[in-house]
Amino acid sequence: MGTVLGYLRPHGVRVACGVTVKFTAALLELVLPLLLEHIVDVSVPARDLAAIWICGGLMAALAFGAAFCNITANRMAAWVSMEVTKTLRGDLYSRTQRLSCAQMDRFSASSLVSRLTNDTYNVHQMFDKVQRGGIRAPMLVLGGLVLTFLLEPALAAVQLAVSLLTFLTIWRVTRRGIPHYAAAQEAGDTVVRIIRENASGVRVIKALAGQSRERRRFGEANEASRRAEETAGCVMAAANPLTDLLLNTGLVLVVLVGALRVDAGQMPPGQIVAFLSYFTLIQTATLGIAKVFIRISKGAASARRIEEILLEPEDQLLRTSEAASRAELGMEGVSFSYLGVERDLADVTFSLKKGETLGILGPTGSGKSTLAALLMRLYDAGEGVVWAGGRDVGSIPQAALRSRFGVVFQNEALLNDSVYENISFLRNIPREEVAAAAKTAQAWDFIQALPEGLDSRLDIRGANLSGGQRQRLLVARALAGKPAVLVLDSADSALDYATAAALRAAVRRDCPGVTLVVISERVASLRDADRILVLEEGRVTAQGTHGELLESCARYRRIAELQKGVLL
Ligand code: ADP
Ligand code: MG
Repeated sequence: MGTVLGYLRPHGVRVACGVTVKFTAALLELVLPLLLEHIVDVSVPARDLAAIWICGGLMAALAFGAAFCNITANRMAAWVSMEVTKTLRGDLYSRTQRLSCAQMDRFSASSLVSRLTNDTYNVHQMFDKVQRGGIRAPMLVLGGLVLTFLLEPALAAVQLAVSLLTFLTIWRVTRRGIPHYAAAQEAGDTVVRIIRENASGVRVIKALAGQSRERRRFGEANEASRRAEETAGCVMAAANPLTDLLLNTGLVLVVLVGALRVDAGQMPPGQIVAFLSYFTLIQTATLGIAKVFIRISKGAASARRIEEILLEPEDQLLRTSEAASRAELGMEGVSFSYLGVERDLADVTFSLKKGETLGILGPTGSGKSTLAALLMRLYDAGEGVVWAGGRDVGSIPQAALRSRFGVVFQNEALLNDSVYENISFLRNIPREEVAAAAKTAQAWDFIQALPEGLDSRLDIRGANLSGGQRQRLLVARALAGKPAVLVLDSADSALDYATAAALRAAVRRDCPGVTLVVISERVASLRDADRILVLEEGRVTAQGTHGELLESCARYRRIAELQKGVLL
């Protein structure tokens, strides 16, 4: 919690001012019932109209003063908690951006989202409520009790007892209710997630006739959400009526005990009026304290979740490595595991010279994308060395390393923006270069056919384009940065053979020095590569040129045979 609290420090003066103003308001509020008592017990029996007016006027002034102070302090509190939350959320966001892929996997994207939204909201609420009520409510309770004990200890004892009871009731009810609300929140998140999955996967679901299954899945989540909300609602339903009951019982007790004591001549009647005011004040403040505590317990839990990210150490530090290799791109005995259980890559070794092409062939799940991710140091190799530009990738600053690469990953998304922005991708690349990249990527023809050419807008995820058009735009994006190394991970899967061949030829023609890594299921896409790796379950089972592999690798030969019909 310390780190999050530290965000208040720059606003210390403002918080202190706000607290002082609140303190003043509470003092003013505490004096009001005393004046009331004075009117009833002194001025009215003496029929001193002037004194009544003066006291009444003073009461009105105090009430206005208190309201003014409270409004001012609340505004200051709102300002401070907004500022603190903004800075906190900003820092959390930028830390999230710098998390390594391994850390992202560990925290999971949806948990990061809820930390950025729900948890920062809870912290905001905590700061806000603590500043507003954290001083005022305890002040009113303590001050009220002290003053009433001075006035009339017997009645004050009744008040104290009822207030304690109220506090315990609220505390217990809400503590029981909070977990149910958390469960309801989670159930609600599931409903949203299913809706989102359905909205984005609508075509697949329709095509596979999975609608009734999806409807059932949604129905179950919807029902779970209803049940959780209902339980939470049932538990919390007791809270307000119980406190009202306690308030009213307390008022009755005050009047009853007070009346008996007035009757016995042990206290002036005006004190009953004062006590009724104090009692209401103390009771409301007690509720306030309970609410502040609840906010703190929720906020503290959220603060811990936020700190987990903020304090997460950088895990991809820059290594100092003098080691050098002649390879432009390569691996030397590289092994890697995502979860530390099984090896997703095992003992991979290869090396490429500048301008050469590496082909990677292998069934799904064999580690092709993982190999590409390691080349860019999205993950750190567990064993072995990854070379880029003749240096250990661990010794190259991240920005420099990433700018060497142009990549098309599987499942990469397009933005809901213009074609130009999708290719330039916030890099402010001149339009001519964007157009040139699009031409190389065989995307220029269809871009020109769009109503506004480069300025045409794409739907979310490029839904208004065909799969092959999307792939070519992504290739153009990768090419537009003029990378030294171009990685195409299954970027031909939606292209017809002729277009894929034209694309390969254009890349070789337009980007002469570029080192290429082509991951593909098609032998045709790889056959011109200088070196082809055949991957199976994370191991390189064969390595060589197309001709060599046809000779030496039965598996490669079989795949090539199978695809031959299509190649013709
Ligand atoms: P390919 O690209 O050849 O289809 P991948 O490189 O994507 O295969 O995956 C290789 C293996 O690593 C698979 O067993 C896959 O389940 C696992 N894997 C991939 N990404 C992750 C991840 N982020 N966390 C854990 N395991 C992963
Ligand atoms: Mg893959």
